Amino acid sequence: MPLDPRRTVDELRELRELTGDEDGAQRVAWTETWAKARDWLGEKLEEVGAEENVDAAGNQWFTLAGESERALLIGGHIDSVPNGGWLDGCLNVLAGAEVLRRIASEGPPPVTVRLVNWADEEGARFGRSLFGSSAAAGSMADQAELRQRRDANGIALPEALAEHGVDLDRALDARAELATAAAYLELHIEQGPVLESMEIPLGVVLGTFGVERHQVTFKGQAAHAGSTPMDKRRDGLGAASKLALEIREIAKRTGGGAVCTVGSVVTKPGIVTSVVETAECLLDQRHLDAGKLAGMLTEAKEASQRFAGEEDVEVDWERVWAIEPILFDEELIELADSAIGEVAETSHRLPSGPLHDAAEVARAGVPTVMLFVQSLRGLSHTKLEDTKPEHLELAVEALDRLASATTDRLAKSSG
Ligand SMILES: [Zn+2]
Repeated sequence: MPLDPRRTVDELRELRELTGDEDGAQRVAWTETWAKARDWLGEKLEEVGAEENVDAAGNQWFTLAGESERALLIGGHIDSVPNGGWLDGCLNVLAGAEVLRRIASEGPPPVTVRLVNWADEEGARFGRSLFGSSAAAGSMADQAELRQRRDANGIALPEALAEHGVDLDRALDARAELATAAAYLELHIEQGPVLESMEIPLGVVLGTFGVERHQVTFKGQAAHAGSTPMDKRRDGLGAASKLALEIREIAKRTGGGAVCTVGSVVTKPGIVTSVVETAECLLDQRHLDAGKLAGMLTEAKEASQRFAGEEDVEVDWERVWAIEPILFDEELIELADSAIGEVAETSHRLPSGPLHDAAEVARAGVPTVMLFVQSLRGLSHTKLEDTKPEHLELAVEALDRLASATTDRLAKSSG
C-alpha cells in the first residue's frame, strides 16, 4: 500500500465529525469522547496488523514487529483541550498511522516500528500535562500531589483514571515501553507564526526551550496621589514598568529566539488616589541555550536592582518554576532536514516554545526529533486552528521519508 497523505486529511476530518462540535474538538483526556477517539483509532489500524496494547499509564501502542527488537517510535496525542483545534496532537497520530500502513505493506521491517498515542498530553482536565509520556520516560515524580487533584466537578484524578483502566500507583510501569526505543519522531503543528511568515510549509525542531519563571516584587511606599510631590515618591509601579520594557531589550540583545514576557503585574493598594506601594510582576524567560537563558536572568536581576535604586524602592525575586532546555538529536535533525528538503523547497530549523511529549522522550535518553508544519495565523487551542490541506499532505510525506531514513540508519547501526 503506497503512502496516501490525502487519506490522513480525510481521517482528520472524520475524527473532527466524530469527536467535535460547533465549538471545536472535545477529546479531553479521561472522558468518554477521548475513549471513543482511541477506539476509533484502534479500528482504523486493525487491518494494518499492528499489535495493540495499552500500557500502565494509559498510552496506546501499535507495534509492527521487525527483524530487530530495536524500535523506531512515532508519537502523538489524540487528546485535545476543550473547544480545541482539529490538528493539535491528532495530526501526529494519524500521520504516524499512515506511515505504519506504508511500512506494513512492504513486509516485516528491519527494525520494529511502533506508533504511540500518549495519554493526556494537554492536562486539560486535571492541570497535569504530559502525563503518559512523563510516566513512560520515568520523570513523573508528583504522584502524591496528583492523588489530591480534582477536576472542576470535584472528581479525583485517580478515580477518573481508574475508569479508563489506569492505576496511578502503577503508572511508572510504563517505563518498560521505552526499553527497546532507538529513536522517536513526532510531527506537530507549529502553533506559532514563524513558518507562515517565512512562507514555508515545514521546519525541523531543534529542541524545547528552557524556562525561568519568577515573581519579581517591587516595594515602595503608598502615599497620597494629591499631596505627594513627584520627586518624593517611592513608586513600585515605576520600577516595574521600567523592568517590563527592559526585558524586551534583553531578549533582543540575546537573540537566538529568546523571549521574555511580563505576563502580569498586580499593584497594591491599587487605587487611583495612591502611589503604588507594591508591584508584583510575573516574569517568564525562555531560551534554547542554557547559558543564554542564565545570562538573561542575570541581566534582568541587575536591571531590576538598578531600577529599584532609581525609584527608591526595594526589589525581591522568587523563582516560581524552571525547566532546562531539552535538545533534540543532531543526527536525526540532519535526517529531518533532508526529509523536508525532499518534499518542500526549503527547510528551516527552529526551537519550540511549548513543551511536547517529545521532550519527555528525549529527556529519557532516546534520540528524538520533531517536525513542525505551518499553522495558519499561528493559532492553536481554538477551533480557529488550521493548516492548508496541501501542507498537511506534505507533512505526512516528510514524516514518512524521515521514518524511512531513520529505519535505514537504525538497521545499519544494529547490523
Ligand atoms: Zn499538541
